[in-house]
Amino acid sequence: MAQIGQIIVDVPTMQTNEPYSYAIPAALAHQVQVGMRVTVPFGRGHRVVSGVVVGLSDDTNFDGDLKPIQSVLDLAPVLDDELQQLAKWLADTTYAFRITCIQTMLPNLLKAQTERQIQPTEPLSADEMQAYFPQGAPRDFDTAKLDEATLAGLLRLQRAGKVEVVYQVTSKAAAKTTTGIKPALPVAKLQEIQATVAKKAPKQAELLGYLQTMAPDKLVAQSQVAHAADVSTAVIATAADKGWVVKQPLEVYRDPFHQPVKPTQPLRLNAEQQTAVDAITSAVDEQRTENFLVEGVTGSGKTEVYLQSMAVALQQHRTALMLVPEIALTPQMVNRVKARFGHQVAVLHSGLSKGEQYDEWRRIDRGEATVVVGARSAVFAPVRNLGIIIMDEEHESSYKQDENPRYHARDVALWRGRYNHCPVVLGSATPSLETRARAAKGLYTRLVLAKRVNDHPLPAVHIVDMREEVKQHSEGDFSQPLLTAIQERLDRQEQMVLMLNRRGYSSFVMCRDCGFVLKCPNCDISLTLHMDTHTMKCHYCGHEEAIPHICPNCHSRKIRYYGTGTQKVETALQKEFPTARILRMDVDSTRRKGAHEKLLRQFGQHQADILLGTQMIAKGLDFPNVTLVGVLNADTALGLPDFRASERTFQLLTQVSGRAGRAEKPGEVFIQTFNPEHYAIELAQQQDYERFFVTEMHMRHQGNYPPYYFAVQLTASHEEEAKAAKAMYQIVGQLQKGLSDNAIILGPTPKAIARVKRKYYYQVVIKYKREPQLKAVLEKIRQAAQIPARHGLTITIDPEPMNFM
Ligand code: ADP
Ligand code: ZN
Ligand code: ZN
Repeated sequence: MAQIGQIIVDVPTMQTNEPYSYAIPAALAHQVQVGMRVTVPFGRGHRVVSGVVVGLSDDTNFDGDLKPIQSVLDLAPVLDDELQQLAKWLADTTYAFRITCIQTMLPNLLKAQTERQIQPTEPLSADEMQAYFPQGAPRDFDTAKLDEATLAGLLRLQRAGKVEVVYQVTSKAAAKTTTGIKPALPVAKLQEIQATVAKKAPKQAELLGYLQTMAPDKLVAQSQVAHAADVSTAVIATAADKGWVVKQPLEVYRDPFHQPVKPTQPLRLNAEQQTAVDAITSAVDEQRTENFLVEGVTGSGKTEVYLQSMAVALQQHRTALMLVPEIALTPQMVNRVKARFGHQVAVLHSGLSKGEQYDEWRRIDRGEATVVVGARSAVFAPVRNLGIIIMDEEHESSYKQDENPRYHARDVALWRGRYNHCPVVLGSATPSLETRARAAKGLYTRLVLAKRVNDHPLPAVHIVDMREEVKQHSEGDFSQPLLTAIQERLDRQEQMVLMLNRRGYSSFVMCRDCGFVLKCPNCDISLTLHMDTHTMKCHYCGHEEAIPHICPNCHSRKIRYYGTGTQKVETALQKEFPTARILRMDVDSTRRKGAHEKLLRQFGQHQADILLGTQMIAKGLDFPNVTLVGVLNADTALGLPDFRASERTFQLLTQVSGRAGRAEKPGEVFIQTFNPEHYAIELAQQQDYERFFVTEMHMRHQGNYPPYYFAVQLTASHEEEAKAAKAMYQIVGQLQKGLSDNAIILGPTPKAIARVKRKYYYQVVIKYKREPQLKAVLEKIRQAAQIPARHGLTITIDPEPMNFM
């Protein structure tokens, strides 16, 4: 029997990044297992914190008395061996704390919270009880919530040793239950009673009859029994009083899927798809870690390749994990997986309530769900015996988490592929440069789907030069060619998708006399006009204020909004085409849960002619009747100060173009731009990913950017600008000393948006090819950052930054 538990405590500091030893009291000896959460006293004050058992042993290097584990929070381990190793690796590669990584892996409901309570240590006088414990003892002790007099009084009692503060760890995990019923008596007895009540209480007799048909030991939901026996719950309550039935809580899963899905059968694959499936499934068969890049044009049937490869893993009694960028934006994908694999599928994403997440997590943990679909954090699903991992739209930036731990789901997926000896399939029409470059080096096996299924042609893409349009026509959001094309579709009763690269009614308010722009008082960026709430909002911190009618700077009345938003475009569009039915899909129209799905369902049922939306409509939609795609402003993303601006623009235009002409009817795309000669736009027109890859690789080579160089970004933030800057200059000094001359250090620079949520941000970017010392230097910086953290200075290290702004 192990006597010592190695525990990672929930105190995110460097010192606690390695496990602490705790004694296992005899009473808990049979309970404690590796991977369970426990509570332990910590530090000199014996503050009670939660922690995770990462090892058991009989000896320790620690001499002196060990503190004991106080309680065990789980009945079964919540982290298996794989996830524990993964947490360690993650902490190591993302410069995050192990406890932070562990918590990232667990569903929200399992994140234990501590509550402080205060209680008397000896009997208090009646007056004292009345004054300080009016509701009885113990009471919650949250200093922020107590009034001054009470707090002062309690502290006085504490100094006198009459009260103490105790810590209560409240694990929030809660299974959902409903009232369950089972018969309390044997069938013969029930029959007997039924005969006696038959005349005077027919409903009770009916229930007694039904009870005889029930299994003796299985709880059935009370509502279900009431329905089946056709009695009210009052009748069941009476039966319980009389001792005919037993009432007990029955655990139920919260089912996030209310829409039934029609099952589908595997499709007959075309030659390219078959080649891809054969290659992938041979790795599944041989339990071989092999990583694939499925590079398939939009509409080439990548999903069918995923589904049939997953089916092979399931046939071998292994499991499948499929990652998608954002579930809310891709309900069609989830439905396609559910339609093929039915109840085996669990779905994990942040749109679920905490309870729903926890239920899905447990279904996976218990092996009841063998197919997991989910967004970024689903890569940590407790699915065992993985036979295949799929990552759809692998280029999407939402796979990278931009808070600690700053992991990329792709790296985690590859790690799990190695651990489980199974293939990892990265799929995209526009792979990230990094992934495509690795495939070129032979690190990934490249599988190409060059044609759309059934030989449907790719849509014809037209570039509209908006500079000419502005010269010839008035300054509207729609060019003449696009207007003509929309009218044609309306006449033919075909559908179309129009994308605006933005959100809100219009972007910002500007004074036409003095040029004053209304900015957020907390952040350094302009406020956005929202017509739905009639307010100005900050998209970074949420600050909200009234729309100004007089310029605060020069008192002119000519303060107006500029730019274009989806609501404004919708109004203009409706004016051009009064009879057109328009659905608008943007952040504002999809705030409510399930709103995305509803809009898409309406569009799929042809309840609208035009789907007008922001970037969120570019992904994964598959509507056969859509024959026109219009991009209203292709340039917005090009202007960003980021080396990935061209890549993002190319990806977005290609993705959205792919929504057109997916079935029999041919598709057409119009891209409105002020930069028609830009290679990202020209090559998106030709839908030539390979040429874009070559061109962009050349640009990256010239600029010493990834994938030729690795990049690490360090950020310092503080409420005082000078302190953030000073910290960054010190760090640069350390870097220059520690790294070779080949490392390129950019900065320190204030971030493009320098002030967010009342803090100033300074950053440094290190570009390098080989820096054996880098890890050690960064570790040192991280350790040093521990102390300033208490003085309001935050240092973050991002090993693979997605945004350089
Ligand atoms: P992608 O993900 O590559 O854009 P999809 O997987 O969405 O493409 O496939 C596009 C359409 O083609 C879907 O409607 C799909 O059902 C259909 N499809 C895929 N493979 C086949 C096939 N082998 N035979 C017939 N239809 C197919
Ligand atoms: Zn003004
Ligand atoms: Zn703000």
